Amino acid sequence: MESILLLAHTEADGALAKPALEALTAALELGGELTVGLVGGAVEAAASLAAAAGARRILAVAGEPFTQPRYATDAAAAEALARAAGSAIVLAPATARWARALPGVAYRLGGRIDTHATGLAARDGAPAVNRWFYRQRMEAVLTRTARPWIVLLDPGCFAPWSGTAAGSAQVEFIAVEAPQSRTTVTGVQAPKADEQTIRPDAKLLFVAGAGWTKKQPDGAVHVEEAQQLILGVLRGAQASLGGSKSLVDLSGEGQAVLPFMTHLNQVGQTGSTPRHPKGLSTCCHGEEPHVVGWRFVTERRAVNLDPNCGWSRGKADVVYVADAFAVVRELNRLLG
Ligand SMILES: Cc1cc2nc3c(=O)[nH]c(=O)nc-3n(C[C@H](O)[C@H](O)[C@H](O)COP(=O)(O)OP(=O)(O)OC[C@H]3O[C@@H](n4cnc5c(N)ncnc54)[C@H](O)[C@@H]3O)c2cc1C
Repeated sequence: MESILLLAHTEADGALAKPALEALTAALELGGELTVGLVGGAVEAAASLAAAAGARRILAVAGEPFTQPRYATDAAAAEALARAAGSAIVLAPATARWARALPGVAYRLGGRIDTHATGLAARDGAPAVNRWFYRQRMEAVLTRTARPWIVLLDPGCFAPWSGTAAGSAQVEFIAVEAPQSRTTVTGVQAPKADEQTIRPDAKLLFVAGAGWTKKQPDGAVHVEEAQQLILGVLRGAQASLGGSKSLVDLSGEGQAVLPFMTHLNQVGQTGSTPRHPKGLSTCCHGEEPHVVGWRFVTERRAVNLDPNCGWSRGKADVVYVADAFAVVRELNRLLG
């Protein structure tokens, strides 16, 4: 196997986040001589982990300017690490940070980049990369002759490396002058933990469709109760919230619907493709553009009043023909 550079940025506490540990597993499984390139404020803890995992060389660009996610500094750091390592293959987790900076780095290096890789295998001494096309409808296996070849690995596709660090590691620090930047990070604004509805690591993806806002058998809409029921499951099961396009569009049009539902929650062809062990779809018809977003949800269940809904045509493992209000009320009672 050709030589591999794994790029990883550390978190605020100096540790490596799960996507980086997954990419470490992917790099080790591929089997080439491994160099780990670290970027961040502090890199010592991550370096000893990389050493324990068997990295031959550990390179780092460290210091305050490289703490914050920012194109200019991340690209400068990654470019310097790639030049110092001289590896043919550069792997990195598809974090927001690397997804933004590495395409530009590929250009600077005269190399190539592929994004959204979901699998890697060795083929004739070189990597072969799995990637889905046309919104997860077709899977391809890609090889390339151009080098360096940067591959961004989608999170959730490899088991995170689970070894423990042993002692301190020998790190080669690369001096990089932070480029002039117009971007200054002045703080972080994040929702309170209990307002957070997108939880990529949750065991359950709970999806709400437009049915929650439709007239119910008594002839009235019950949006207020729908809100309480949905929030109840999210809290009780610590589930992540997905929405169908119809429902998030209603919210976007300013109608009084579900205030916590935004376009970021949308699952599907024009939305996201989350990876969770289980998914429960409620009040959602299961149309093809929605269902392609469920590609990587392992076990899928749906609740719909209509026995003819799209989910029942072989798209879900289990369809409950039932009133989602009643089902979720009972679910919350059990969770409570
Ligand atoms: C190019 C293109 C891209 C698209 N991309 C996406 C995408 O990324 N994501 C996406 O979601 N959609 C996408 N769509 C839209 C998609 O085709 C559907 O229109 C949409 O997903 C339907 O949403 P829905 O099931 O929530 O609403 P509806 O079709 O209105 O279905 C509501 C369902 O709720 C059920 N229901 C009502 N009350 C209850 C109750 N009490 N209990 C149980 N069930 C109940 C009804 O039986 C009905 O089946 C796209 C469409 C196009 C053309």
